[in-house]
Amino acid sequence: MNWDSEITRHKKARGRDMLILAHYYQRDDVFAHADTSGDSYALAVSASRAQARLIVFCGVFFMAESAAALAREGQEVFIPDQEAGCPLADMIDPEQFQSALDMITRHIRRPVVPLLYINSSARVKAAVARAGGMTCTSSNAELLVRAILAEDGAVFFLPDKNLGLNTARALGLPEHEIAVIGPKGPTSALAPDHRLIVWDGFCNVHVRFSHADVLRARSAYPYSRILVHPECAPKVAAAADYAGSTRGIINEVEKARAGEVLFIGTELNLVRRLSKARQDLKILPLRESGCVNMNKITPEKLAAALRTIDDPESPYRVTVEPDIARLSGVSLERMIERVERERSAV
Ligand code: SF4
Repeated sequence: MNWDSEITRHKKARGRDMLILAHYYQRDDVFAHADTSGDSYALAVSASRAQARLIVFCGVFFMAESAAALAREGQEVFIPDQEAGCPLADMIDPEQFQSALDMITRHIRRPVVPLLYINSSARVKAAVARAGGMTCTSSNAELLVRAILAEDGAVFFLPDKNLGLNTARALGLPEHEIAVIGPKGPTSALAPDHRLIVWDGFCNVHVRFSHADVLRARSAYPYSRILVHPECAPKVAAAADYAGSTRGIINEVEKARAGEVLFIGTELNLVRRLSKARQDLKILPLRESGCVNMNKITPEKLAAALRTIDDPESPYRVTVEPDIARLSGVSLERMIERVERERSAV
């Protein structure tokens, strides 16, 4: 069966009534069908502004859930595999969030603002919105943490510890102002002067990159540049030449001079696509590390989702309870508004 021609046929038949969104970590044979691609922030914005009635999300489940939470009346969201989850998103639930937040607010003297990485479930996003917090992504975490600290607040950053710690490092926050908390409580005593408290979660794709990988790359190509994602361990990010969001890494590759050697520490599908796009560079994965869940979306499943899109019982439709959808939408809208406000103030 030729899935590509079936997908193309459905797209043609639907025209502007349907929008296919794909995350940068999707396989090339799925990515090729996207109307819009991006990192999680760009896709959340695209979903929130989409005019199309049908949104098909090629990414992991929390992303489709975010799109469903932001959907206007009459819009419907689909994902070609409901099992494409994100282990990082599953590392905290609303009850764990609330009990950690209660403990933090009992010990910290500043007002605490929860800042939730977008890689999280709609239920946790809703809990964060209820507590006055907002969502962030790897592209805007630094901007939002800086803005909250500038108002003399403290940040409860969740669920990715490395992104929180790398953001703290980029902002020059001293060690004694940072604490880590997990399902069993803080890893060391909380103090009134802590300003950034990070949840002890991790992305299993990015924690695979090690400091030894960086040393090996440098010794093989001493003039190479090493670009990594901030979900990598702080020791890896500190040893690299650049640590930034998926979009930031792509920008670095686009700006690179012909002949440069770049090692990239992020999801393998993206590294391979960048390597094909810039054949005048030598682009190598810092280590081959793919996301099993992103790879669950295949052309075959995308075709099946498009085939059943009018079926009220379609197993690909993403629904979120109205109250959770409304509140998780609030946490995303607060991020979008705050980022735009901070950027326009610069
Ligand atoms: Fe989750 Fe990491 Fe896969 Fe992204 S790359 S979906 S954070 S496991």
